[in-house]
Amino acid sequence: MNVLTNLEQIQSNIRQACENSNRNPEEITIIAVTKYVTIERTEETIEAGIENLGENRLEGFVEKYNQIEDKAKWHFIGTLQTRKVKEVINKVTAIHSLDRLSLAKEINKRAEKTVDCFVQVNVSGEETKHGLNPEAVMPFIKEIAAYENVRVVGLMTMAPHVEDKTVLKENFKKLAQLRDTIKQKQFEHAPCEYLSMGMSNDYDIAIEAGATHIRIGTKLVG
Ligand SMILES: *Cc1c(COP(=O)(O)O)cnc(C)c1O
Repeated sequence: MNVLTNLEQIQSNIRQACENSNRNPEEITIIAVTKYVTIERTEETIEAGIENLGENRLEGFVEKYNQIEDKAKWHFIGTLQTRKVKEVINKVTAIHSLDRLSLAKEINKRAEKTVDCFVQVNVSGEETKHGLNPEAVMPFIKEIAAYENVRVVGLMTMAPHVEDKTVLKENFKKLAQLRDTIKQKQFEHAPCEYLSMGMSNDYDIAIEAGATHIRIGTKLVG
């Protein structure tokens, strides 16, 4: 399928999910995850009207960024090794995988300006998942106040590998509650307004639970 047709289908599902949950579709940012596809397909994605692209590996990011540069806003959504921070840091709009102090420290050191980050949370507790345990998030955010170039704009999670929609929704809602708790504190370095959650198979559920940034690969770019 061409990207535009996929996008129209997704936008219609987004409108429906927003209607179900009394939300405004304009609150939702679609991040097209281009990790499976070629540069040509990525360019088609931009032509279809997508402004935000996501890559989860350094190699894929560098390859595409070198061609596309600032024709899109880039989101780094995968695990980021500390020693590789310098290769992405001043090229991305946001890093969605902040999950440890050493990473915050390195981002702070390498940043030429404030870097928007999402703290990654392992809501489901699955051992294979990266991210902080929910209880560890508040103390972590307090600690990184010391790193003045790091700004926590939101929280991110990966859903557990289950089909059960109720379980998925509960996970997403837990992240939304945690976001609310942090946002209420009005930390200067952590406005924490956003929720990066929902992928091809569950973005509608994530939106109904409050997602502001959905990361879609398979169903959008193939
Ligand atoms: C691959 C990936 C996605 C997109 O997954 P799809 O199921 O293909 O939509 C979203 N987020 C992260 C972190 C990913 O690695």
